[in-house]
Amino acid sequence: MQFRDLKNQYQHLKEDMNREVIKVMNDANFIMGTQVKELEDELADYVGVKHCISCGNGTDALQLTGMALDLKKGDAVFVPDFTFFASGEIVSLLGATPVFVDVDEKTFNLSPEKLEDRIEQVISDGKLTPKAIIAVDLFGLPADFISINKIADKYGLTVVEDGAQGFGGRIKDKVACGLSAIGTTSFFPAKPLGCYGDGGAIFTDNDEWADIIKSYRVHGKGDNKYDNVRIGINSRLDTVQAAVLKVKLNAFREYELKAVNKAAGRYTELLEKVNGVGTPHVPEGFYSSWAQYTLKLKDKDTRDKLQASLKAKDIPSMIYYPKPMSTQLAFKGDMEYIDNLETTRKLCDTVLSLPMHPYLEDEDIAEVVNSVEEFFK
Ligand SMILES: *Cc1c(COP(=O)(O)O)cnc(C)c1O
Repeated sequence: MQFRDLKNQYQHLKEDMNREVIKVMNDANFIMGTQVKELEDELADYVGVKHCISCGNGTDALQLTGMALDLKKGDAVFVPDFTFFASGEIVSLLGATPVFVDVDEKTFNLSPEKLEDRIEQVISDGKLTPKAIIAVDLFGLPADFISINKIADKYGLTVVEDGAQGFGGRIKDKVACGLSAIGTTSFFPAKPLGCYGDGGAIFTDNDEWADIIKSYRVHGKGDNKYDNVRIGINSRLDTVQAAVLKVKLNAFREYELKAVNKAAGRYTELLEKVNGVGTPHVPEGFYSSWAQYTLKLKDKDTRDKLQASLKAKDIPSMIYYPKPMSTQLAFKGDMEYIDNLETTRKLCDTVLSLPMHPYLEDEDIAEVVNSVEEFFK
């Protein structure tokens, strides 16, 4: 069994994929070919925003966003403590300070209450200027943007949606990556919508940000590539990857997102009955794209033993994430707020992600569930 079955997916898409990728090679339009613009238009339409700007990867998408927001030394950027490193990394890279905030124990996403407490704490300390919030759609479930956007408005902050794991998710009829002023995603192969290498994109309705990001992604270009008006980076999406993503987006829209939700529903229906297993919580009105299907166990010992027992049966599982961001050595010295992060600490010790992808069969799910059941007997 595969944790995320990309080989199986390719077999399903092979005919279209081979044709579209070979077309790029025949046309030799490798950089910013027509497929890049076509993909950006399709993605903007899917997300329901005015602009989609593709780039080299999900981390660059966050960095380009941070550059557009002019994040700099002295700025506080609020980031969940339970996430992938990149969400906080780009804040430090740009010279600003990541201020870590604890997450909700049920959704694993940024806790609005703790966010507001943290903002108040930073304001009353007076050392940093609160500037932005990076809220992550962890494991495919959108963060609570209704509450987070309200808090941001109250304090005059910009909300960035790190939708690297969230593409395809929704809150009511609003689509992920378009749930706040600016959103980003990653097309890393294992993400909900992945390409065959690295890729990323930024989504916004803001014309000014869109223009500046298009400049930053090509060396701070002005009217043309050899007219440089600001210091930028080189971060474009390859035409080959755009061609791959156009084929994948069709499958994603037509059946993959439904299939992955069906698989998650089946897991939950069966695992809910197993004593000692906490199944993922999807709040009313929310829809997940299930980048991960993640269980919560009683304690670290139980989690580690369950993982070992699955491994003995050749069932892959992963620990996302073993360490809170606030304990990462890389952030040492760049951080002042390390109190009130207990939920993240507990989750790092007790979560376990099971095999999850749109091509998971009922038999695979039954095999995983039986193995979990046996462990608890
Ligand atoms: C994967 C990921 C990123 C970075 O994406 P890359 O394409 O690997 O650079 C950023 N944030 C989160 C939450 C992620 O899961």
